Amino acid sequence: MPLLRQLEFAFRTVAGIADPGRFDAFLDAGVTDPGYNDADRNLNLEETARELLRSLGAAHIAADLHVEWNPRLKTAAGRADCRQRLISLNPRLVEHPTEIDRTLRHELAHILAQFRAGRRRIPPHGGEWRQACVDLGIADEKRCHNLPFPAQIYAARFVYRCPNCRQEFPRVRRMRRAVACLACCRKHNGGEFDLRFRLRILRSC
Ligand SMILES: [Zn+2]
Ligand SMILES: [Zn+2]
Repeated sequence: MPLLRQLEFAFRTVAGIADPGRFDAFLDAGVTDPGYNDADRNLNLEETARELLRSLGAAHIAADLHVEWNPRLKTAAGRADCRQRLISLNPRLVEHPTEIDRTLRHELAHILAQFRAGRRRIPPHGGEWRQACVDLGIADEKRCHNLPFPAQIYAARFVYRCPNCRQEFPRVRRMRRAVACLACCRKHNGGEFDLRFRLRILRSC
């Protein structure tokens, strides 16, 4: 069963994420998630996390803890919602199995630290979180979680626009040749290059 679920996640990772190049910096900002989906929960990881909480004197909240794979996570490896006691993991972690446990503990540290602090507000990666990391066996954890996902090295520096349909075309490099909007050339000129639809630079940075 766990294997099947893993395969399912792996498949969804390939099918569900349009732009795999966008995984660069991994900060979890503690954004509130609208909710979790039962189908996305990973029971193995959930049980591991609950066991860790129990072993650290936080049995009180262990049963409430949920772990899910969330394909909507785009730039973070994981996320912790302390109020909902929900850990969300990026499905792309399946491609980097050795990072799954560490990410789980990183996020769990947020929940453990907040549990210990009670109602007191604590900084996301402050001393309380660091102590929780020590207790969870990841003393050297960094607040920025960099994963070996393909980094987006090149940002689009030039934006071109079709003068007809106004579609924008972000590009990494300046276009050296005349390039026209394919959609408009197809629609109005039988697919042949047409200067009327030549892309024009909108902005560069
Ligand atoms: Zn964090
Ligand atoms: Zn066009």
